[in-house]
Amino acid sequence: NVAYISGQFVEQSNAKVSIEDRGFQFGDGIYEVIKLYNGKLFKADEHFKRLLSSADLIRLKVKHTLEELKEIALEVIDKNTDNQSGSLYIQVTRGVSPRNHSFNLDLDPTIIMYLLPPQPFPEELWQSGVNAVTLLDTRWSYCNIKTTNLLPNILANQEAKDQGAFEGFFVSPDNVVIEGTSSNVFIIKDGVVMTHPITNKLLSGITREVVLELAKEDFEAKEITFTVEELYDADEVFLTSTTKEVLGVIEVDGRKIHDGKIGPITRKLHSSYRNYIEDINNF
Ligand code: PMP
Repeated sequence: NVAYISGQFVEQSNAKVSIEDRGFQFGDGIYEVIKLYNGKLFKADEHFKRLLSSADLIRLKVKHTLEELKEIALEVIDKNTDNQSGSLYIQVTRGVSPRNHSFNLDLDPTIIMYLLPPQPFPEELWQSGVNAVTLLDTRWSYCNIKTTNLLPNILANQEAKDQGAFEGFFVSPDNVVIEGTSSNVFIIKDGVVMTHPITNKLLSGITREVVLELAKEDFEAKEITFTVEELYDADEVFLTSTTKEVLGVIEVDGRKIHDGKIGPITRKLHSSYRNYIEDINNF
């Protein structure tokens, strides 16, 4: 079986994608499946149009026209004459780059096309019909899972970067501050340290847990929701993550937090965090 991968036709088992491919690490890609009937692609134009539209919607620049993509597809079919009734699988990812949520708009996309074998499907089901169940539509309501399906996070992170911000904070429809695109968010008001309680709406950050424990040693600390207005009006704001540790946030949506300087409690918590790391490393 011959597969196409980014400019080359190779034996399918030799078609490999980098471990730093953004499709692999972030789910940062799009795909189509086109059915083959008698060796011909059914509704090819429609599928390729939708592919290019999906690409646009995630700001992925496919450097091929619809016609060029179709030509590659026909060549894949030509090279696999034994498969005339399967389907063509097409996937385009944003490409390969050092791991980072935000992306370079000029990356070379990874493009793969290969044929999927015909799926044996019991003919009698078209006579008898099938059953189904209803499910609550929870797509995607599992932000507590540290999944590699990070497309919403990376698009939001890029949006924040485009607005000149270091991080973006997700806000719910009822104006509650949930978490950052790759961090948890804390505010401090009148000496009380606050962060969103753990629900399915956010990732239970390991750093968040440590910081909460440390905060309780010296201050009052609460897991409680707060609104965007309370964020703007906080005495201090900081974010936490494995790599950013405790990072002061001095401005949100162009508004200075308090006097626009990192506050004393944030500084204290970062120094407690650094001490905690040292204590552990000195065991
Ligand atoms: N929220 C999200 C969405 C994250 O991706 C991360 C991890 N970078 C965090 C919070 C912080 O988690 P941790 O402190 O475990 O790094």
